[in-house]
Amino acid sequence: MERVSAIGFDLFNTLVTVDPGSLAQALEVLIGSLERRGLRVPSDPFKEAYRRHALRFLEETRNTGKETHNRFWVAAALGEFGHLVSPEDERVKAAVEDYFEAFSGRCKLLPGTLETLDRLRKEYPLGLLTNFTHAPAARRIIEETGLAPLFRVILISGEVGYRKPYPLVFEMLAQGLGVRKEELIYVGDDPGPDIHGAIQAGLRPIWTLYAERLGARHVADLIYRDIPPPDGRVPRISSWDDLMALLANERGAVES
Ligand SMILES: [Mg+2]
Repeated sequence: MERVSAIGFDLFNTLVTVDPGSLAQALEVLIGSLERRGLRVPSDPFKEAYRRHALRFLEETRNTGKETHNRFWVAAALGEFGHLVSPEDERVKAAVEDYFEAFSGRCKLLPGTLETLDRLRKEYPLGLLTNFTHAPAARRIIEETGLAPLFRVILISGEVGYRKPYPLVFEMLAQGLGVRKEELIYVGDDPGPDIHGAIQAGLRPIWTLYAERLGARHVADLIYRDIPPPDGRVPRISSWDDLMALLANERGAVES
């Protein structure tokens, strides 16, 4: 068994959770913001169109690995209501910014997260690798929760241009941490992008059920629902203590 020499983490439902209902609320903010900018739409039909187009753009990322952005599906949904605007339209960009502003303040760390990462980083370089379309909002969340200084590497799909489970992003994580992929553990909650992605890229996944145990609503990537939960070969944790125990075990196994 290879020695563990670095650890990577997913963000949502691994380190932080979001208030239930915050996405729905942020969508209301988006609609209000569009209206203030002269782009009035009927609320429920727009929400339906928004979801349909979001799914369409996200499905595409599955084929290419390339990240997309909310402004594309906002512009596409607006088109259905007679507003023919470009995704680069300043009003669209501003409304998307308002959407994320409403959302990012509602993220909370899972209990014990800062303390655990602070202990771990004395032994392992730590990396954060998250799928997030609008990178400035992800940066804000990472700063405001106090996570930023704990990581040597922070990779956000909206900045690097590719999304998990595309192997390139896992390779970038290993490279950024200066380790080989076989020595890199990746902790995540979502079977498709995180676990399947890490396995495909040659990393060692750990499946975390901590957020779920605390009642966080499952926010699995909609377009990877066909990927089954990991089997018994993938270690799983439901607390930070579980992770510490797992790593202690690992060290024992390597030394003996
Ligand atoms: Mg997640």
